[in-house]
Amino acid sequence: MEKLSDYKAMLRDKSPMQVIEWALGEFGKRIILASSFGAEDQVLTDMIASTGKPARFFTLDTGRLFQETYDTMQKSMERYSINYEVYAPNPDDIARMIEKCGPNLFYESVEKRRQCCDVRKLRPLKKVLKTVDAWICGLRRAQSITRTDVDIISWDEQFGIYKICPLFDWSEEDIWKYIKEQNVPYNPLHDSGFRSIGCVPCTRATKHGEDERAGRWWWESPEKKECGLHRKSEKNK
Ligand code: SF4
Repeated sequence: MEKLSDYKAMLRDKSPMQVIEWALGEFGKRIILASSFGAEDQVLTDMIASTGKPARFFTLDTGRLFQETYDTMQKSMERYSINYEVYAPNPDDIARMIEKCGPNLFYESVEKRRQCCDVRKLRPLKKVLKTVDAWICGLRRAQSITRTDVDIISWDEQFGIYKICPLFDWSEEDIWKYIKEQNVPYNPLHDSGFRSIGCVPCTRATKHGEDERAGRWWWESPEKKECGLHRKSEKNK
């Protein structure tokens, strides 16, 4: 936290590749990429792999992911010769939640949806982030109104570590240009109108003119559409 302003000054005007090179050198094994195999995560995975440096990657297997997401994971493991650390929810927590609230609780209220995200995502995330001093994420400012203050580096108060978002100012077009030019493997659901991909019951394709993340928890109002992994409380200055 005390180095945040120095880091920010130093990273200003650096390319995503330069940010990644610096981050891997600065934090070594104490930094990890969060991947849900979305387009941004695939770009970052490709960039990290191309450095040739040892790096850690993790994913949260919520138990409700699309088969296409697992296929993308498989392809990425083969293409980059990497392994992902997999963090899954506690089976007893899942069982108690379903017994009490039913398997489709997320459609009933924002509170119940957040309860499911807490059990399936946030608790496993806390486990992995205890092992690092920084995490790399694919967040971009242009993704939604909940992400307009994403910065290249910030202090993530929720987890007490640095959060690095090398693609913070990239557009959706920038992402796809990189994917096509570098022939990066991507989730085939993107070709069917899915622009942001999470769990099966909480993701749908977007319609023409909709926000990039409109297909996530589409029954909720836009300002509530986060799963608790990325809160707006980070210090950016
Ligand atoms: Fe549960 Fe949906 Fe959140 Fe996945 S996205 S953890 S299914 S509420």
